[in-house]
Formats: sequence, C-alpha cells, structure tokens
Amino acid sequence: MSSDERSHMLNAPFQTGATLASLPADAQAWLASWQQDYLFYQIDANELLTFIAPSVKGILGYDPEEMLGRSYREFLDLDHPLHAQLQDLSDRLLGGGARAMRRCVARCRDGRLAFLALRERPLLDGDGQRIGTEVMAHDETGRVNAEFSLRQSERKYRRLVEGLRGGYVIYSHNVDGVITYVSPSVRDVLGMPADKVIGLNWRDLVGEENYGRAAADRVREQTQAGKLLHQLVVEIRHADGAPRLFEIQERPVFGFDGSHLAMEGIAKDVTEATRNAQELQALKEDLERRVARRTTELSRINAELRRSEARYRNVVETQEEFITRWRPDGTRTFANEAYCRYFDTPREKLLGRSFYELIHDDDRDEFRAAVEGLTPQAPSTTYVQRVYLPDGSIGYIQFTDRAFFDSAGNPIEYQSVGRDVTELRQADERLREHENLLTHVSRLATMGEMVAGIAHEIHQPLHAARTFAEAARRNLQQGTDQGVAAAQECCQEIEGAINRTAAIIRRLRDFTKSRPVHLEHLDATEVVAESIELTAFEARRARVRQRFEFESQLPWVAGDRVQLQQIFVNLMLNAYDAMAQQPVDSRTLVITAAASNNGVEIAFRDSGEGVSPGVRDRLFDAFFTTKKDGMGIGLALCKSIAAAHRAQLVYEPNDPAPGSTFRITLPHPHKGEP
Ligand code: ADP
Repeated sequence: MSSDERSHMLNAPFQTGATLASLPADAQAWLASWQQDYLFYQIDANELLTFIAPSVKGILGYDPEEMLGRSYREFLDLDHPLHAQLQDLSDRLLGGGARAMRRCVARCRDGRLAFLALRERPLLDGDGQRIGTEVMAHDETGRVNAEFSLRQSERKYRRLVEGLRGGYVIYSHNVDGVITYVSPSVRDVLGMPADKVIGLNWRDLVGEENYGRAAADRVREQTQAGKLLHQLVVEIRHADGAPRLFEIQERPVFGFDGSHLAMEGIAKDVTEATRNAQELQALKEDLERRVARRTTELSRINAELRRSEARYRNVVETQEEFITRWRPDGTRTFANEAYCRYFDTPREKLLGRSFYELIHDDDRDEFRAAVEGLTPQAPSTTYVQRVYLPDGSIGYIQFTDRAFFDSAGNPIEYQSVGRDVTELRQADERLREHENLLTHVSRLATMGEMVAGIAHEIHQPLHAARTFAEAARRNLQQGTDQGVAAAQECCQEIEGAINRTAAIIRRLRDFTKSRPVHLEHLDATEVVAESIELTAFEARRARVRQRFEFESQLPWVAGDRVQLQQIFVNLMLNAYDAMAQQPVDSRTLVITAAASNNGVEIAFRDSGEGVSPGVRDRLFDAFFTTKKDGMGIGLALCKSIAAAHRAQLVYEPNDPAPGSTFRITLPHPHKGEP
C-alpha cells in the first residue's frame, strides 16, 4: 500500500457520510490491526457499538465480538468522579482549545480503570442526517497513572515537609548562603516564621561567636572539592536569645550543566538531647564512680568478712565445747569438731539426723519440755543431760540451748553449746557420798559426846523397871488378892519403862543409822521436839533451863528429818557449852519456831558467853573451834546441810548481850517436792 493510499484510508473514516462498511477490506483490516495504544470504534444513532478494533483486547481486555451490539456506555464511564480531574490534566498536558479532546474513564474487563482520550466525528448519511459516531481513542492509562503518582508523591513530600515536627527543619539556600526555602517547622525550632527566615543568610544565623561556625564555613570549600554529604553541628540562637544546638546534614544541588546551584539540608534541634545526653553521661560517670567506690568498699568488707568468718570458724572448730545447731525436730544442721569427737562419729553421719536417740531414756521428756518452753522473751535454757556414748557408757553434758524464732514467733532453729560434765558429776556424787559419811560420822561423834547422858537416860527407866519387877515379885509372894492387884500395877509400870527405853533406843538408832538422804514434808516443830528429847539429858546435865515458843499451825517444810535433827542437836549442844561458865540461874536456852515470809524460822537463843567479834567470820569454817577438845566441824556441817535444804543458817549476837542466836529459815516445799 502506497503512502497516499494509506493517508486516504486514514482520513476516509473521518469523511462525512463514510462508514466503516464502505471501506475496502484491506483498509478495514489495517484499522483492525491498529496500534496497541489506539482504539477505533463506531456507534450508531442508538449508541450501540457497530465496530470496534481488536486492539480493545489489549486495552480493555474484551474481545471485539463481546462488545458489538452493546451500548458503549456499558464500557465508558463519562460520569466517573475522576473525570473532571482527567479533563483538567489532559488540558494541561496537551493544551486546551477548540480541539480539546474528551477524556473518559473506561472499565476494563478485570475491573481496573483505563483512561482514554477521545476524538469523535459524527457519521452522516447522504442526506446529511447523523447516523452514528466514529471515535478514535488513545489509551493514556500509563501516562495518567504516572502523572497521578507524581502528583501524589509531590503532595506527600509537601505534606511531609510542611508537617515536619519534633525539632526538624528542612531548608535550602543558594551558594552564597541566602535561604531560599525553609519548612514552617522553623517557627517551633527558632521562634521565627518561615517568611522571616527566607532571605536571611544562614551563616548569619550561625553567628561568628557561636559554636560550629568554622565547620559551616568549611562546607563551601569542601563542596567545591567534591564532597557531597556534609554533617556538622552548629549553634543557632533562638528568637528568645537562647543558643540551641542543631545537627545538620546538607548536600549540594547541581544544575544540568553541573554547576553548583544551591545547598539543601535538614537540621535537627539536638539541644535537649545533648543536654540529656550530657546529663546522662554525668549521671553515668557519677554512678560508675559510686559503683567503683562501693565495689572497693564491698570487697574490703568481703575480705574482712572472710577473715572474720575464718576466725569464727576457727574459734568454733577449735573450741573444746560442743557446738551444734538443729531444727525443731532434732535434726542436726551443724556440729563442730569437738561434738563429732565426743560422739566418735564422723560429721556426715551426724548432720541431717536427729540426736533424740542419743538422749538417755529418762531425760528425753524433760529435755523436750524444756525446749518447748523456750520463747522469744526467754530464748535460752541450761540443763544437764545424760547421753548414750558409742562405748555404751553414759555421759553427762551440760548444755545451754538457744532458740531462734521467725517473725511469727515460731522456733526455726536451735543452737546448743555444751561441755562434758561426767567427771564433775561423778566427783559431785563422790563428794555427796563423802558428805553423807561425814554427817553420819559427825552424828556418831555427837552421840559419843552424849553417851554418858544417854547411858543415864536408858539407865533410868531400866532401873525403874527393875524396882517395879522386885515390887511385883514381893507382892505376888504375899499370895493375897491385894498383892496380885499391886503386882499388876507394877507390871504396867514395867511396861511403860520398857516402852520409854525402846523409844529412846529407836530415836538413837534413827539418829545414828547411816542412810541415804530422804526428803519429806515435815512439821518443823515436831523435828525440833524430837531433837530436844535427844538432848534432854545433856540439858539436864548442863543445868540449862529451856523455854519453847512454838507458833501453832506452822506450814510444812521439806527436808530430811535426821539431818535437820542433826542441825538442831548441834546448835543445842553448842549452846549448852557456851553457857557452861555462866551462873546456873542465868543459863537459859529459848527455842522459837515461827512462820516467816518464805517458810519457817527456828531460832536458838542462848545466854552464853557469846562469840567474840574476831572469830565471828570463822564460826562456820570447818575445823574452827575454840574448845579444848572440840573438832570444829559441827557448824560447818550444819551450814552445808542447811544449804542442801535451800535453808539459811545465820549467827547473830544477842541484843542486849550476852549470848548468841542461831537462826535457820526452812523454806516451803517447792512445787512437786519432795
Ligand atoms: P566445836 O563445837 O567442835 O567447836 P562447832 O563448829 O560446832 O565446833 O563450833 C565452832 C565454834 O563456834 C565453837 O568452838 C565455838 O567457839 C563457837 N560457837 C558455836 N556455837 C556457839 C554458841 N552458841 N555461843 C558461842 N560460841 C559458839
């Protein structure tokens, strides 16, 4: 086809009255194979599509056959909201004027939109009547989309720049430094509106005297030297006069010819951040200094603790005393060397196990009660406990236990510190045996002193019995009834005498018998009376008058009858001795028994020579005597017997003199005693 023919064909459809059907077949084929971006179609007077080029497939996605015979309005949306914008866009892009093209929005088969520029011509018949329209449409979708996104991104960047906050400012200035643009955020940052800032030279803003001016000056030289990105920190004064720090990033803008046109950049106000950072740094340094100080201090304390712990451990471990800690159920949590050694058991076998099985069966309940009685107010107790030792023997340990409580007052752990008192106990027992022996011997000695009197005492009833026996025999020999009656009376007398003798002998035997100490509730006056009977003859022999002043209804006391008798007998015999040199008339011993605050007080007040001041302090010493044949153990024994009875024995000179008073206070029985 020649170019002439082609130009004819191109123009043919637009000639008045021509229709597509009137075109030669090859012209129709040429139109059908129209370029991709162009779409040619015809509509009749009813706006139904009568022809559409196959390029519609590429543009709208339809096959031409699907569209023919349908209204073109099904595909073109002339009322689309974007239409006006499109029209405006097309006018601006392509120029307005009489030949301005209509724009429309078409809906593709897959729902996307296509943007078309339309050039329309009426189709007229031979009479000049309009029979339809032929349209040449150009697909501008790509271009319109590109333009849209350009506008959108322009708008987006404008929004971004205009809406900048948070201390950011975007600016540009020419090569001389005159500011040509600044974002409105400059008002927040420097306190000046953008239009007041535009036109200023930015190097004046970074005044001579301010920080960063030198760096700002260098930017120009460096740009000329080819540096593209500049980063610097400068100080600019706020409208209120306060200097503020800005971190700046700027780059040069070049023209098409490569000439340096301007600088554009972004500045961020870092005053607060810097101040915060400085404060933070100062805080950090301060903290580091304090941590370092504390670390040194702690390591010193630690070293000291380690030393003191080592010392403590050393003390605990080298201790001769047993130290153990245990839980309320008796499980040991700690045991020192001495403890392990004593029980001849390695530590690992002792820890985690209860010690209850080691306690003597008879002591276990008492121990449990003592421990359960501990309170936060009275957290410790001391006691002696018998324990089973590995060799089968029994050991005595004196323990002092201390309980530790939680905040609710419940015991959580106990600590026991103890020492072996087995030998002490044994010595104590031996001592007690010796003491017992001594008191016995002493009683025998007292008895020896009194033997003449005792012989006399016994002799008397025996003598009486013999006299009555003779009288009875004589009476019986008479063989009369009267004689028998008299003999019967004599027999009664004999019986009385023998009973008296038997009583004396029984008392003497009781007094001299060796027997273990036996505590019982006693009527103190009864014991005093028995003692008086024991010394009755001695009193008579010493020609001492005795007076008794006993309160009635005295409370019970607890004691060993014979040992208390021993005290009283001793005190009475001493009193007789002390009065031996006094005229017979004035030899009086007053024995009183009265209730006192905490028991019964018994006093022996004699009218003897008294005790000279020089020897008062030694009265109760063992082997102290002022007598020619004295042994000097009487009062010492009395004192120790009294102590064993929790009683007090004291001497006091009579007032008025002469004479001495020995006073002993026997306490009430303890609860559960004897
Ligand atoms: P002894 O009677 O063997 O001397 P005691 O221990 O009983 O031993 O008494 C020690 C000393 O105390 C007596 O030698 C005596 O000097 C003095 N003494 C004891 N009782 C009296 C008393 N009632 N009046 C004066 N002196 C007394």
